[in-house]
Amino acid sequence: MKLAFIGLGKMGSGMARNLIRAGHELTVYNRSVEKARAIEGARVAESPREACRDAEAAVSMLADDSAVEAVVFDSNGLAAGLKSGAAHISSSTISTALARRLAGAHESRKQGYLSAPVFGRPEAAEAKKLVVTPGGPRELIKRYQSVFEAIGRATFIAGGEAWQANAVKLCGNFMIATMLETFSEAFATLRKAQVDPHLFLEIVNSLFQSPLYAAYGSAVADEKFEPAGFALKLGLKDMRLVLATAEECASPMPIASLVRDHFVDAIAHGQGELDWSSIARVSARNAGIT
Ligand code: NAP
Repeated sequence: MKLAFIGLGKMGSGMARNLIRAGHELTVYNRSVEKARAIEGARVAESPREACRDAEAAVSMLADDSAVEAVVFDSNGLAAGLKSGAAHISSSTISTALARRLAGAHESRKQGYLSAPVFGRPEAAEAKKLVVTPGGPRELIKRYQSVFEAIGRATFIAGGEAWQANAVKLCGNFMIATMLETFSEAFATLRKAQVDPHLFLEIVNSLFQSPLYAAYGSAVADEKFEPAGFALKLGLKDMRLVLATAEECASPMPIASLVRDHFVDAIAHGQGELDWSSIARVSARNAGIT
């Protein structure tokens, strides 16, 4: 399939490479052109509009709402370039409100729209091990099934409305963030109790047996927060977005509010570019651990 791919950051570069490996023909665009040039086997476009010109679908993997708005709605943007009948597949973790706006804007141009957020870190993106959760019209999801299969190990259809997929992604990230918060509090207490964090991690792993607990637990036990697989500033974005969705749905999420505040605390201490597991430093500081 002829595809455009826009946004070749930590996640997008691995996803784009897997689409090429699966036999798709890619034209890529990235704001900083060197990341686009690094994708072997892809044609590099000078604008999102040019990247989309002949594409049957344009996949975007961008930082946040404002990046998606800039790439989609610019006069040289994705929406201006995509032909009618083709679809925008947005994999970025964005707000449910923007997903609804994108669905409407593409529909008015006779273009399709799917939200297809992903779970998994950059290593999983490179290894085709993402979990993909598309949402939107069923026939469109079926048409682009080969795209989801090329980037992930599993696909779960989140619902018939695109924004439902973003709600799923945000709630999933909320649960990962709360896991980080609980690691953060437990490790701070156990450090003060002079218990070896690695021993505690072994116990946790035998109790929970989850790759997420194993990977994030060892990052917190080793205090290894660089290089960031997922930058803490993006973790704060996701807590802000899940709270906005909770408000739209009139469904209180008090723990999300607390975790959001701890991400703000971390940002205030200069941790925005560290991995989001560095939220552990907040509880450590609160416990007087230097
Ligand atoms: P990243 O490495 O920071 O990449 C962000 C991408 O967005 C880059 O291509 C960047 O271009 C582009 N961008 C940012 N602002 C822009 C703007 N105003 N105009 C045009 N392009 C812009 O981030 P990432 O970790 O790949 O995350 C991408 C998305 O995936 C985010 O929504 C994130 O929440 C989500 N996600 C991340 C992970 C993870 O573990 N990292 C996992 C699942 C989902 P430049 O290269 O020019 O800066």
